[in-house]
Amino acid sequence: MTAVSLSEAASGVPTLPLKPRADLIVCPRCDAVFALKRPENGQRAVCQRCATVLITPRRKAGLQIIALSVAIVILILGAAFFPFLSVHAVGASNSVSIIDAALAFSDGPLILLSLATAALIFLIPLCRVLLSLYVLVPLVADRPPARHAARAFRLAETLRPWSMAEIFAIGCAVAVIKISDLADVTFGPAFWMFAALVVLVVVQENFICRWSVWNALSTRRKS
Ligand SMILES: [Zn+2]
Repeated sequence: MTAVSLSEAASGVPTLPLKPRADLIVCPRCDAVFALKRPENGQRAVCQRCATVLITPRRKAGLQIIALSVAIVILILGAAFFPFLSVHAVGASNSVSIIDAALAFSDGPLILLSLATAALIFLIPLCRVLLSLYVLVPLVADRPPARHAARAFRLAETLRPWSMAEIFAIGCAVAVIKISDLADVTFGPAFWMFAALVVLVVVQENFICRWSVWNALSTRRKS
């Protein structure tokens, strides 16, 4: 990938424009303003001040993101309900799914903890994937954006820091190492689904060019 250099436009902007200007791009991290120059497919535009990636257009990225998102939905559902771990100790064995584990506290004062765990591990990642499918499917199919698509995409972006599937995976690894001295632990199918899920979420995140989505949403709304 080559970086396209964007010229800083701060000096050329005497007053704040009232309408959003299609010829400028603002770095979401450091607020630097640049004159917009659209990179070719496979290139990317980065902020000269803080190196945040601003635009990464890719050929057929939309279809790939949709395929990844569908795979993520299937993996989230599988990882929730299939057995995650089996523990064998002194002749007894027990296997548990993540939903069982999250609901284990649901009838006591820890119900809030149980709901928060289920939300951070599953519901929020699932919500984000469904929202991005809702936004992207009409765009990729060359149709006008779905109703409230901009709001849906903004919500998906707002939820991003709260999607903590990978942190749960690290927690599990630590817990398994701790109990492996006491009992015989084997991973169930949900563990491997979960591992694949964590990787796919990162890949999908990196495939989405947020500028391209916002640009498509705003230009198609006008036409
Ligand atoms: Zn920046």
